[in-house]
Amino acid sequence: MHPAHLFYVQLRLPEKLRPLQEMAFNLYWPRDLETASLFRRLDPDLWDETGHNPVLFLRLLPEERLMACAGDPGYTAELDRIWQQYQAYLGRRFSWSQEHNLTGNPVIAYFSAEFGLSAALPIYAGGLGLLAGDYMKSASDLGLPLVGVGLLYREGYFRQRLDRQGWQQEVYPRYNFYDLPLELERRADGSPLIIQVAFPDREVKAQVWRAKVGRLNLYFLDADCQDNWESDRSITDRLYGGDLEKRIQQEILLGIGGVRALAALGIEATICHLNEGHSAFLALERIRRLQEKHGLDFAAARELAASGHIFTTHTPVAAGIDLFPPYLMDKYFTDYYQSLGLSRQEFLALGRQDPNNQQEPFNMAVLALRLSVWANGVSRLHGRTARKMWQSVWPEVPEGEIPIGAITNGVHTLSWVGSRMAALYDRYLGPGWREDPAEAANWAGVEHIPARELWQAHEEQREELVAFVRKKLAAQLEARGGGLLEIAGAGEVLHPRALTIGFARRFAAYKRPALLFSDPERLARLFGDPQRPVQVIFAGKAHPGDEEGKKLIQQIVAYAGREEFRSRVVFLEDYDLEMARYLVRGVDVWLGNPRRPLEASSTSGMKAVLNGALHVSTLDGWWDEAWTPAAGWAIGRGEVYGDVAYQDALEAEQLYDLLEKEIIPLFYARDGEGLPAAWVERMKKSIQTYGPVFNTHRMVREYSRQFYVPAAGLYQRLEAGRQERARNLAAWKSRVHAGWPQVRVERVEDDGGRDLAVGSILTVRAWIFLGALQPSDVSVEIYHGSLDAGGEIIAGEKETMNLVQETGEGRYLYSGVISCRRAGRQGYNVRVLPCHVDLAHPFQTGLILWG
Ligand SMILES: *Cc1c(COP(=O)(O)O)cnc(C)c1O
Repeated sequence: MHPAHLFYVQLRLPEKLRPLQEMAFNLYWPRDLETASLFRRLDPDLWDETGHNPVLFLRLLPEERLMACAGDPGYTAELDRIWQQYQAYLGRRFSWSQEHNLTGNPVIAYFSAEFGLSAALPIYAGGLGLLAGDYMKSASDLGLPLVGVGLLYREGYFRQRLDRQGWQQEVYPRYNFYDLPLELERRADGSPLIIQVAFPDREVKAQVWRAKVGRLNLYFLDADCQDNWESDRSITDRLYGGDLEKRIQQEILLGIGGVRALAALGIEATICHLNEGHSAFLALERIRRLQEKHGLDFAAARELAASGHIFTTHTPVAAGIDLFPPYLMDKYFTDYYQSLGLSRQEFLALGRQDPNNQQEPFNMAVLALRLSVWANGVSRLHGRTARKMWQSVWPEVPEGEIPIGAITNGVHTLSWVGSRMAALYDRYLGPGWREDPAEAANWAGVEHIPARELWQAHEEQREELVAFVRKKLAAQLEARGGGLLEIAGAGEVLHPRALTIGFARRFAAYKRPALLFSDPERLARLFGDPQRPVQVIFAGKAHPGDEEGKKLIQQIVAYAGREEFRSRVVFLEDYDLEMARYLVRGVDVWLGNPRRPLEASSTSGMKAVLNGALHVSTLDGWWDEAWTPAAGWAIGRGEVYGDVAYQDALEAEQLYDLLEKEIIPLFYARDGEGLPAAWVERMKKSIQTYGPVFNTHRMVREYSRQFYVPAAGLYQRLEAGRQERARNLAAWKSRVHAGWPQVRVERVEDDGGRDLAVGSILTVRAWIFLGALQPSDVSVEIYHGSLDAGGEIIAGEKETMNLVQETGEGRYLYSGVISCRRAGRQGYNVRVLPCHVDLAHPFQTGLILWG
């Protein structure tokens, strides 16, 4: 029966236990492991059954149990102590804007299609979501004025089950949001806060849920409202679910709806961070609102809005970008672009690499790049890949100068370090690593941890992992209808003392999960040595549409079932945040072997090294910049091959060699007391090297320094008065665009011969025709450097040329020098770029003229 009336009964805990209720609704605070133990103490079985979801747990906990605990002075004293700390954490005051001399307390809105914060809130698919979750935690710790914006998926991301053939099945439970750590935003009269976006022939409504992440708020839109058409209620059913039209609907809701939700909540976020392109429509909505509010035209509003947008791309392959065909854009955006004052052609050009190509689909990354002044990739290598990938957006700008920077991802340290290691860090590093692993931690103190203690802590975490795997595997076999014998066998898989390798991530072909099995006989010999056993644990989901990924899972499951790998190779179903915690804490080696350069960053290895695991990977993503020979291993040296099969065979060979000649012998080289001294040395080196760097505290600071602070400053400058500078900048750009076709480099001369000695100075003179433009509108530069085999300047440098004299009728003479520091074949060219004080970088207009 469908109820005709709905009402909600608030949970009422005994007075003494009230703090539990508030803490249950916070998805993170630095001591939430202790809070978790408070819940566990109330009823350990129920705590596990509810998937460590404190809200559901409290709802299901029998009244008698609550009353008993309320009367237990030991329990209430502990609760009180943690409650005090909780309040102290939340109460700490920061002033990010004062610290950076910003006026007007700007707010940063962080938009992401997924957030991985807790296994109890399953609205993440993988790395992108986990990163968003960890990032928010660090932003809370560091006191940034940030709010998160996302979508709340009724069915989350799928849960993975394997059938008897090892084939992935997707299961979609429907979540009850009232049982999750979420609160519905309401108006003053108690009715739900609703925002709406226009779809063809209707308004689609969404309600807004709020989650607390430490000090910060995270808002989610939910289209499952009674007033919506039945079909629209399913817009937010599944993360990355449905067809292309569902995808555009979700992205409209996230981007446009997200900005409207913030406005409805009274939050004017001038800085918007786009965590991947899914939310890029937000840029249009921000422009539209500024036009409406200040009476600006599109161009001026665009300057203002874009000065506050930061776009982070995570995708190193074109296939990973959302593309919408023009007919879908027409269907959803015809009224919208008219309200912006744009023609269809002008509008579609915002999402096209070639603005004049009528066939080109609308590309969300291109939209994000065109409407964000600030952009970056997520590791140094990925920054380079992204610059190459998006060169077409800035035609004629040299690849190395494409304005896409790089900020390498990190992880939230406190969320990933296991309790045994944490206790050691507390003892030997002091409390700084908890407060601020990037700047306050004394990682050098790892040196003072006695080898035996470090090894013991690590072995305990490995034992916990093995126990977890056995339990999980037994439950999974049972659910799959396994026989009693088989289920009992799960209790004996893995050895708590054997060298344990972990490989857990999305199953996608480029990550090559089955690389280890390229030569099964050799692997069986390596793993099967009774004196030096090796074992590996796999976990990971394949995207529902990815048949190849599913085949890879099936392959691993088949190997795990073979006699020679029995109890040494395990595949765990349904990889999630909780499972990741056990894995990264307990393994000795974390393996990654993506095909370079297809892994933008990867973060799971960072979680593992914090726990003393050694990382083994191809030089891709973060590992390309992080690896040093004393702390982990590199498969290959960063080569990129044209022949994929050849590359796979070669890198598999290299991996086997590393295992056989270095990793296994080092792990089993024990001293008189059974300690692997050299291995422990490496563990220390690895923790010390990576601990201070690959965390989200460092990352939040880099975003703040490189983007948020300058963006806030630029925004304020452009907005001041009556948005005078935004209007001027737009007018200037339009004038420069109009005058640009006349600009010419008429003649270039230098005073050198063909052969120069290192150390000599070459003077270059250039006669430039600027037509209607003024010298103050441009900068003239020499671009010079070594030539590659194809005669192109590689990694060129630039020298500013000075105006020497006006030669009349729009003609100017410029002069500059090159100092010849390197031998070899060199070349130079002269170029003209638009130049204006309010440009954040010289390529913002997209205009460039070469001599
Ligand atoms: C860290 C993490 C990821 C991301 O791992 P990658 O190495 O970036 O592939 C994915 N899923 C879960 C559950 C994680 O904890």
